[in-house]
Amino acid sequence: MRVINVNGVFYDSNAYLIDAKRKALVDAGIDGTRVLKSLPPDLDLIVLTHCHYDHIAAVPEIVAATGAKVALHEDDVAALKSDHISGAAMFGRRLPALRVDRVLHNDDVIDLGNVKLTVIHTPGHTPGSICLYDAATRVMFTGDTVFEGGSFGRTDIGGNPEHMINSLETLAGYDISALYPGHGNPVTTGVKESLRASLANARHMLF
Ligand SMILES: [Zn+2]
Ligand SMILES: [Zn+2]
Repeated sequence: MRVINVNGVFYDSNAYLIDAKRKALVDAGIDGTRVLKSLPPDLDLIVLTHCHYDHIAAVPEIVAATGAKVALHEDDVAALKSDHISGAAMFGRRLPALRVDRVLHNDDVIDLGNVKLTVIHTPGHTPGSICLYDAATRVMFTGDTVFEGGSFGRTDIGGNPEHMINSLETLAGYDISALYPGHGNPVTTGVKESLRASLANARHMLF
């Protein structure tokens, strides 16, 4: 599976293009103009790992240019109506109007033709946070649930510490070759150790 990070500057989120038969973008970031420069015209789908402004603000611009559909977990759809729950207010901005075409649930499979991504519901950072797993290559996209260096997503913008720990336990049970987080660098070596460190830190810091 070919994965290209087409964003991730400063506080903006990473946006990963999955260059499969059907092309998908995992998160959109804030700056649509920058992301669009690296996108194919036949982008099929934008899968949002959660509802936060820094991951979704560029969606309308990308949809207008490519006609891509938008997918989000059911438990984060309501947040698209709130500048506070979505974190837009933190950036001093308003949420753009955004339509969700496909509402996701745990265990759903997103079929990109030659790539099949499984939706793993990992609440904690937000109620509807998801990770996406490609079993064929053991690649995991983690949004803001877990990052490199033993860190994990904050739980104070609509999240829940207990759910975060449960979700990190879920992720620690997966066989992962590469982890692509919503911010910072991918983890491609020592993924298991990195996840265990995140889980230990979360248990220590959240309780
Ligand atoms: Zn983020
Ligand atoms: Zn977030």
